[in-house]
Amino acid sequence: MIDVNSHDFPKPRPQPLCPNCGHSSIRITTSVLIHYDIIFDASNHDFAVIDELVGDAMWDETNDAWCPVCGWQGTVGDLRRAHKSLKSPGNTPQK
Ligand SMILES: [Zn+2]
Repeated sequence: MIDVNSHDFPKPRPQPLCPNCGHSSIRITTSVLIHYDIIFDASNHDFAVIDELVGDAMWDETNDAWCPVCGWQGTVGDLRRAHKSLKSPGNTPQK
């Protein structure tokens, strides 16, 4: 069976990332906009999808982030502020 959700993301050497426990990975929550074309299916008395257009998934400083190990919760901006060596977008306030 093919897992359509798996991707071959690059795997750099893990570094401490969580501001609380130092775990090396943080989960970011974002959303994807999907446009469905539908028709009315009279045989099922319901809508039927005939096409879909999936948008890009992006995140910015305001997206929620959390640590799966210690439960730390914050935003991508909180992570950037905790790691001053990260590349940062131009509109991010720097301390
Ligand atoms: Zn943590």
